[in-house]
Amino acid sequence: MPVEQSPPDHGPSTAAVHAGEQRQRAHDSITTPIVLAATYPFDDTAALVEFQEGRVQREEYGRYGNPTIRAAEAKLAALESPNGQDTALLCPSGMSAITTTILAMVPSGGHIIITDDGYRRTRQFVRTILARLGVEHSVVPTGDYAALEAAIRPGQTRLIISESPTNPYLLVIDLPRVAEIARKHRVKTMIDATFATPYNQRPIEFGIDLVTHSCTKYLGGHNDLLAGVVIGKPDLISALRDAQGILGGICDPHSAYLLVRGVKTFALRMERQNASGMAIAQFLESHPRVTRVYYPGLPSHPNHDLAIAQMHGFGGVVSFEIDGDLGATSNFVDRLRIPYIAPSLGGVESLVEQPSLMSFYELSSEERLAVGMRDNLVRLSCGIEDTADLIADLAQALDLF
Ligand SMILES: *Cc1c(COP(=O)(O)O)cnc(C)c1O
Repeated sequence: MPVEQSPPDHGPSTAAVHAGEQRQRAHDSITTPIVLAATYPFDDTAALVEFQEGRVQREEYGRYGNPTIRAAEAKLAALESPNGQDTALLCPSGMSAITTTILAMVPSGGHIIITDDGYRRTRQFVRTILARLGVEHSVVPTGDYAALEAAIRPGQTRLIISESPTNPYLLVIDLPRVAEIARKHRVKTMIDATFATPYNQRPIEFGIDLVTHSCTKYLGGHNDLLAGVVIGKPDLISALRDAQGILGGICDPHSAYLLVRGVKTFALRMERQNASGMAIAQFLESHPRVTRVYYPGLPSHPNHDLAIAQMHGFGGVVSFEIDGDLGATSNFVDRLRIPYIAPSLGGVESLVEQPSLMSFYELSSEERLAVGMRDNLVRLSCGIEDTADLIADLAQALDLF
């Protein structure tokens, strides 16, 4: 592709801006380019009119779309959609995907239903910002389907939001049952499936309307980006895209590229993380100093049968309680050599956290216990390290704490 030269009669400032720039798109590249463009010029006003009338599809302005972002969206929709009929909207974070969806779908005076162990910031958004906008909500216990149906207010309830599996106890929701209840009452459903990923579970297959992921976790997979996505039927996603154009939260093209790159190895990573999660859950359950393990792949998990029916694998997060108090649990965590102590999950590096010192730090031990959170709870997110090394590391820390 020829490179256009600045005509010699232009001044140095014009040349500095235009010389050497390709005005044609030329991409024989094997990788999707990172397109860093705020705006997309038209050849002439006729081309602009053609675009406005919908006769050509092309980019217009950075807040309304970007080729790198579209590549990520197409990839994520393909992973999530059972029949290829769904589309995706990429967002700058998982929270942005959730808040954009809710703000676009629920009017003032509307009502939504959330579950009691949903992602903390989602619950906070519903309780604070959404309440200020005049949207009411009900919180129902996760897995209580009678309470869920009873909470629906005819004509007022717009959205049921749940997660599966949940954090940190990895409860699994009966997705076909939630979808059926919602359909009966003409309410839309949204599942935050970050912990499952489309490798392990595809909620749309079970009749769920919208699926969100924090791509910051498994999909990006390298602890180097923040992004989120919402996937569903094209008419719904198109409405969300319009809302995003107004709200203004857009994924950076660099992050979109990192996501495209990360997703290429997603299935390989999930295989290892599923295998390590299972092996580590079994190891911990057999260890005398571990008092309880929460992992949906274990027969001891309350939702094990549901997990078998709905999930292909059970993921890399294992939560467990050890035989000790807050301090002893901290000693155990400090003795681990491979995992980093950090929030987040799903990346190539194993991460460990003590929820009582992280997401639930503001509460006292008694307050934490009231919400079912014990001080001796540990959450491990297995990375892609060798399973045997992770187990050996856990073993040495359990022997010493
Ligand atoms: C991390 C996470 C989010 C938020 O995602 P961000 O990318 O951090 O904004 C939402 N839901 C779940 C279940 C998460 O784990």
